[in-house]
Amino acid sequence: MRTRAAIAYRRNAPLVVEELELDPPQTGQVLVKLAASGVCHSDLSAITGTIPMPLPFVVGHEGAGTVVEVGPGVRSVRPGDRVMLSFITPCGRCRFCTVGRPNLCLSFWLQPRGGLIDGTKPFHKDGRRYNMMTRTGTLSEYTVVSEQAVVPVPPGTPLDRAALLGCAVTTGVGAVLNTAKVEPGSTVAVLGAGGVGINVVQGARLAHASRVIVVDRIAEKLEAARRFGATDCVDASLGDPVQQVLELTEGEGVDYAFEAIGNPTTIEQAFRMLRFGGTAVVIGIAPGEATISVPASLFPYGERRLIGSMYGSARMRVDMLRYLQLYFQGQLLLDELVSRTYTLDQVNEAFDDLRAGRNIRGVVVFEET
Ligand SMILES: [Zn+2]
Ligand SMILES: [Zn+2]
Repeated sequence: MRTRAAIAYRRNAPLVVEELELDPPQTGQVLVKLAASGVCHSDLSAITGTIPMPLPFVVGHEGAGTVVEVGPGVRSVRPGDRVMLSFITPCGRCRFCTVGRPNLCLSFWLQPRGGLIDGTKPFHKDGRRYNMMTRTGTLSEYTVVSEQAVVPVPPGTPLDRAALLGCAVTTGVGAVLNTAKVEPGSTVAVLGAGGVGINVVQGARLAHASRVIVVDRIAEKLEAARRFGATDCVDASLGDPVQQVLELTEGEGVDYAFEAIGNPTTIEQAFRMLRFGGTAVVIGIAPGEATISVPASLFPYGERRLIGSMYGSARMRVDMLRYLQLYFQGQLLLDELVSRTYTLDQVNEAFDDLRAGRNIRGVVVFEET
């Protein structure tokens, strides 16, 4: 079949929206008609090369849609089912999948990027095979993914909301609930109020943190963060954020600091604003060659910890549905995350707005056919 898709052909160049051929689903694969795809900073990082992704590739990894067709051997979904897409496709067999840490699946992380987990590349044109962002390629009307990448949702689930669970929500909320396991009453700082950071804020609210201090340089983002549970705002453009956070906490610092930018300076700041016993959690992806420098003595003095979080330590088929239930109960805010929607043809405008920090989350919504 044919599908229109947003394709990155060159680094730091506009995406090209054009028609590609899409192979039918092979054994263990699923054809999905996308309803919506969030526009994420990681897409931008893959386009620029900060996140390694071979060109050309179909962009997008935060999607939800409806199953159209399944390949032989697929048992967990059938045509007509609504699904969210996990941007990590777990193999289900490796050491980390076996111990319940599918976000660290060795097959996903160690095999060459670009195709599905079985190596196939279903998108093609004129004899040329196209890669897919994180084995999903959701900025396309249709995509073919491995069965393990789909998470079925209840009938009637609004897919333009469920799409957000594919990356930003699961990454941010999961960093708080799964990775850090923030206890009620804790004090939390969040560095970066973008699509992921704002979900760290609401994760901290769900964990009943007593203080949620959000740090950013854009006043509108700080203001938006209040709606998601921020109790205090620190404008980093007005002075050293570490000093400002210390002043807000009687000089003690915070129990948890989450870095949701991927910048060495803000990672260092996150560590330096910890109180005794505190944990800094790095979520943002810094460029491969970037290094950080923090005072070594602060690790034993005060038993401070510096850890990483990938995809919110998600067990995708458990946690993404758990978060969806919290949305249905009114506890997790998804509607409020979507600040603007775009058509696929407006995808470059969506990335311009992302670069400029104009959205909480921009979402490409596909036309019903
Ligand atoms: Zn695995
Ligand atoms: Zn993402």
